[in-house]
Amino acid sequence: MSFGDVVLAGAMTAGRISERAKRLHFSSLVIDTHTDTTQRFLDDGFDFGARNALGSVDIPRLKEGGLGAIFFAIWIPSKITGAHAVKKAVGQIDAVREQVRRHSDNFVLATTAEDIRTARKRHRIAALIGVEGGHMIASDLGVLRSYAALGARYMTLTHTGNVEWADASTDIPVHNGLSDFGKDVVREMNRLGMIVDVSHVSDKTFADVLEISKSPVFASHSNCRAICDSPRNMTDEMIRALAAKGGVVQINFHVGFLSQEFRNAEKAHPEWDKAIALEVRKRCGNSEGRQLIEGERITREYVERGDLPRVEWTKIIEHIDHAVKVAGIEHVGLGSDFDGANMPFGMEDASKLPKITQALLEKGYSEGDVKKILGENTLRVLAEAERISRELNAAEQVRTAVPN
Ligand SMILES: [Zn+2]
Repeated sequence: MSFGDVVLAGAMTAGRISERAKRLHFSSLVIDTHTDTTQRFLDDGFDFGARNALGSVDIPRLKEGGLGAIFFAIWIPSKITGAHAVKKAVGQIDAVREQVRRHSDNFVLATTAEDIRTARKRHRIAALIGVEGGHMIASDLGVLRSYAALGARYMTLTHTGNVEWADASTDIPVHNGLSDFGKDVVREMNRLGMIVDVSHVSDKTFADVLEISKSPVFASHSNCRAICDSPRNMTDEMIRALAAKGGVVQINFHVGFLSQEFRNAEKAHPEWDKAIALEVRKRCGNSEGRQLIEGERITREYVERGDLPRVEWTKIIEHIDHAVKVAGIEHVGLGSDFDGANMPFGMEDASKLPKITQALLEKGYSEGDVKKILGENTLRVLAEAERISRELNAAEQVRTAVPN
């Protein structure tokens, strides 16, 4: 962390949120395109309606953070495949839908940009579903269509491991990007109006997606590789190409993707990662939701001991600002990775989101520009994917019509 970061973080954490920032933030549609809270819904004893001491997302904190829409990721490890993966994914989709039903005074399930705007008018938070990892379709377009029918609005093509038809950014490439079937998956997602999410995929898979996809795509939780050199982050060239296609890079809050210093420290001590994973298993057994939360807590213990560097939340602003400079104001958004990653100091949970609005105003962003980053850019991509879906379906109808 530079001296400038310390001063900026100090000024911003000490300073309250101005009236102007509050007014702007709470009148904007704030959208978070990636949270891992779904796993917690399956854990015993988690009450979404109460303010929890652990984790980053629950209804009280979403309200304090002014969230208008939130995407719940459906996630299982890449190594789980086939029918088992489908069963687990359907269970998680059901868990999201059940939480929305139980908390219908605060939540409503949304699948379109219009649904999100309507939810706001009715004073509800829009809940959306994203499937994080193509391994969950078990190489079956019928399963993909079923997820879309259940409300899934995007699919991240891979998680950390390759799938049967696409290479991931953190695995050894075997498909040279997308296989022929992988290209069919992208085409079918376009027809369904499901957004193709390029977070986690390899650079070559990303290039193939941009070539095939008729709709704009987004990276639901990715950062700038120019600032932190992780294969999970995007190069300036990739960000520019994503923008040229009308897409959005949603900035991730995970310290390992925000800070080069943090990443270097982790790489220098791979044994810590193993020790943290072991400790997590000891404390949580097989409960995936608790594992994610506990992993973050133990990582914080390493930071507090001085083993891992402290990363401030202002690093998020640095990535947003860089992405805006590279891609333009229309192509940047927010994808926190709350409840699934290690949050920086000052952005521990969803209630802290108004700080982003405050910081962007202090940096000289106009109110209109801040609104775009908070959610309007994402709404545009959703609406555009819907429009292209309608066009593709209409074209198919014409092709299959019986001539008379
Ligand atoms: Zn992820």
